Amino acid sequence: MSVVGVDFGTLHSKIGVARNRGIDIIVNEVSNRATPSLVAFGPKQRSIGESAKTQETSNFKNTIGGLKRLIGRTLQDPDVEVEKKFLNATLVDVGGTVGVAVTYRGEKQIFSATQLVAMYFGKLRDITANELKTAVSDLVIAVPGWYTDIQRRAMLDAAQIAGLNALRLINDTTAVALGYGITKLDLPEPENPRYVMFVDVGHSTMSVSVVAFSKGQLSVKAAAYDRHLGGRDIDYALIQYFAAQFNEKYHIDVLSNPKATFRLLVGCEKLKKVLSANNEAPLNVESLMNDIDASSKLNRETYEELISGVLDRIAAPLQQALAESGVSIDDIDTVELVGGTTRIPAVRARIQAALGGKILSTTLNQDEAIARGATFAAAFQSPTFRVREFHVHDINQYPIKVSWERSASDPDDDTELVVFPRGNGIPSTKILTFYRGGPFEIDAAYAEPSGLPGGINPWIARFTANAVPPAPNGDLTCVKLKTRLNLHGIMSFESAYTEEVEEREEAMEVDEEAPKKKKVVKKHEIPFSTRTSSLDPGAVEKLKELEAEMHAADKLVMDTEDRKNALEEYVYDMRAKLDERYSSFAQAAEKEKLNGMFQEAEDWLYSDEGEDATKSAYVAKLDALKAVGDPIVARYREAEERPKAMAQLRATL
Ligand code: ATP
Ligand code: MG
Repeated sequence: MSVVGVDFGTLHSKIGVARNRGIDIIVNEVSNRATPSLVAFGPKQRSIGESAKTQETSNFKNTIGGLKRLIGRTLQDPDVEVEKKFLNATLVDVGGTVGVAVTYRGEKQIFSATQLVAMYFGKLRDITANELKTAVSDLVIAVPGWYTDIQRRAMLDAAQIAGLNALRLINDTTAVALGYGITKLDLPEPENPRYVMFVDVGHSTMSVSVVAFSKGQLSVKAAAYDRHLGGRDIDYALIQYFAAQFNEKYHIDVLSNPKATFRLLVGCEKLKKVLSANNEAPLNVESLMNDIDASSKLNRETYEELISGVLDRIAAPLQQALAESGVSIDDIDTVELVGGTTRIPAVRARIQAALGGKILSTTLNQDEAIARGATFAAAFQSPTFRVREFHVHDINQYPIKVSWERSASDPDDDTELVVFPRGNGIPSTKILTFYRGGPFEIDAAYAEPSGLPGGINPWIARFTANAVPPAPNGDLTCVKLKTRLNLHGIMSFESAYTEEVEEREEAMEVDEEAPKKKKVVKKHEIPFSTRTSSLDPGAVEKLKELEAEMHAADKLVMDTEDRKNALEEYVYDMRAKLDERYSSFAQAAEKEKLNGMFQEAEDWLYSDEGEDATKSAYVAKLDALKAVGDPIVARYREAEERPKAMAQLRATL
């Protein structure tokens, strides 16, 4: 069984696998260690990952990024409004969730963000299976710690649609902490833990956590976020600046033209990276708009002024995490940086300044630490992979309450209760007690909706007990309800039951005066149903089938292309060889026939029909050519082999 961990990034994703030697980050089909988090739709097929990136400039309206920011959201969510700044595709409503309208196989089609993420994970699955040479099903996925129940459930749905089983959704910085802790052999005793702060600034989001490490375990003390702070906000500031400059300089309105904006973005990303290592950087964008080759440059000072709006927001999550952890900055052992945007010197300077000049550490692999940590988390769950025991205590970000209708018999009764407060450990189980005389409902929801990301619906689940048995004496029945905040950070109603205490006599011993009585608690399950934001199994199954169909269609397109290439190659290769090495092994008539067939195949290949034919048509043509060509090749081979065979025969005699 494979052990896989994925860092699902806004810009790129990374895949880790556990092997006997340790954890490796695997490469994709073009040998990159990071795969663009993009899905695109074309006239014939979908392109996902690298191939989506390749065709992005020419097909940006049907290319979708920011997948992790869309999943679990509604079209009306103010956070989705922010996404529109960074997207060229058309967002639409798909059954109450956000999705895209694209042109795919010549038709307008819509897909939910959950489906898009499933498509993307299907690609990651294929990359992994190709590397491991085995089917992949179980994996751990790293997600932002600010993800809510709805987002987490949508991620699990997406994994299922892709035929994957998410063993755990682990918070990004918790994964980093795990990768950090498990390799440290000198961790202190629990009374005196080592505190480490992890700071991740990626393409779209910033996360900070304060973690206590001791022998064999880590506990997240506090975590804070700015979910709109990352490299793309810096790119955006640069685009605005240069667009204004080019408006004056070349009289072109770049921002009015999505294609030109896209070209400028590519140039700005490059410039930004150069500025991380140099005091000045050039910007050159060929044929930006109206055939104008635009060029400019930028120095560090102006750059840092331009992005000061972004830089100014860096301090808040750092200070919040620190304050909530209750750990003083002097007691923080190290501050570990990860994420591409922490490569920017000004970003580092701001982090350092916010932490009172604390020395920052970059000992972790900035790009791969999350994927490595997620893979360790997967290894813990794998029966086949032996890994040092290490306990991960993560915490709940948003308080969760349950609520119920006031009962007529007890008007003073509370109607809600916070079950999992902010900071509650994950995973965690709590048993609630209710006195009820008949069917009842309980709702679970986030207790402080204003603290949730964007316009996330605070509702989590509804529990319905259908039949509550009456208590023997006519009183209300005491119902126990088991609730759980699971490893994914998702809340669920696990079971409902009544308890019956029975006193049983124990087997009597001869010399005892009175028989001993033993209390036995018998549980009686109460049937119940729950409704959550997860897709129901039937819907998942349908989407899974649809995904499998699209996957098969993509494969057919690729196989067809492959067979077309094979036919083309055979025509050119065989035609050349027929004049050379095979020449004396073919009769004149055979040659003439074959050359005629080659000409006919070539003409066909470049005709409208042959340009875009079916796989079976290419296969049939190639088979027909081989039927004539193969005997010639066989004669040649035999002649080649004969002297060798004779020599061998002689040697054995
Ligand atoms: P997120 O974690 O926000 O979901 P992600 O994981 O895809 O996104 P990372 O891979 O951590 O993001 O970082 C990508 C960002 O880092 C991009 O904006 C990229 O331009 C930026 N980046 C990478 N290298 C550099 C560099 N040398 N200088 C400046 N920025 C850089
Ligand atoms: Mg990231």
